[in-house]
Amino acid sequence: MYRHHLLFCFAVLTFLLPSSASAEWYQEQQDVMGTVISVEIWHANFAVAQQCKRQVFDEMHRIDALMSPYKTGSELYRLNKWAADYPVRVGDELFSLIERAQQISELSDGAFDITFASVGHMYNYRRQIHPSEEEIKAKLAAIDYHHIILNPENRTVHFSRPGVTIDLGGIAKGYAVDNSIEILARCGATNALVSAGGDSRILGDKGGRPWMMGIQHPRKREEVALVLPLSDTAISTSGDYERYFIDKGERHHHIISPRSGKSISTTISATVIGPDATTTDALSTTIFVLGSTGGVELVETLPGFDAIIIDSRGQVHYSSGLQTPGNSEEAQEPKKD
Ligand code: AMP
Ligand code: MG
Repeated sequence: MYRHHLLFCFAVLTFLLPSSASAEWYQEQQDVMGTVISVEIWHANFAVAQQCKRQVFDEMHRIDALMSPYKTGSELYRLNKWAADYPVRVGDELFSLIERAQQISELSDGAFDITFASVGHMYNYRRQIHPSEEEIKAKLAAIDYHHIILNPENRTVHFSRPGVTIDLGGIAKGYAVDNSIEILARCGATNALVSAGGDSRILGDKGGRPWMMGIQHPRKREEVALVLPLSDTAISTSGDYERYFIDKGERHHHIISPRSGKSISTTISATVIGPDATTTDALSTTIFVLGSTGGVELVETLPGFDAIIIDSRGQVHYSSGLQTPGNSEEAQEPKKD
């Protein structure tokens, strides 16, 4: 059975034990899509490793240029602009990712919904702007994934009403990470790690040992809340500390309830572990919205997936596939500040 082991500690330990004398780890970080992309590859050939890392960053830029809702030249920008007027024909890749997003919406009864942006794009976290109650009310009906009409034969996307905007921010980074891992595997790497902000995927392991993957402490920037030893898997964390501001005591952050058009306040961190990063990315956002009970319930129906949710009281909830070594009473849970 598929199980993940869980360690409780507050420091990330890394092991760098080479499994062959000639190969080495090559590491590089760059800022793309507003997040830090990190690539680590174990490879026997320096030149090949450099070239493969470059291909990964190129891939990240390519996906950003295609799927950014803000870049006026992107396919998604064009789609948002015209899809309420007529069915817009899009490329295979964008069509498939929208289809995948729609499946997650069905699965979660609309907790994951890429039309959240119909209201979500009225928030500006950098400039600390949020929509008023009236503004939310006026646009809320435009949030509903059923407004997206997909025609697989013509590969068109049509919005059934005006005012609908879609944003793939909850799934595109995971997709980019999956494509990157494919690139590195094609380069002949058997061990690699690609992270894009809160979304990571591990190919193989770290030289005969698992990677010790830290989950960011949601209230202490420099700390990890817990550490998971993982190999050959994907892991995504969604948190209310990533893009947010506080106004009159209320935290406005980037994960939006499709029902209310407001930031979710019942969860502060949600992590999903599973075979591919596209799905763990979308599911981490989904279970963040669903909260501890609904989120764990959903993940329990999905073989191969596990979840860790920290609720707004600082309590940690695990899916049943995660086992705690030793006495679980020793577990230290992050406290809300
Ligand atoms: P993540 O960092 O993967 O949790 O994704 C957060 C991003 O998902 C946000 O920045 C938005 O772009 C997008 N998002 C926010 N709320 C939702 C939602 N309810 N359904 C789908 N995507 C969302
Ligand atoms: Mg996510």
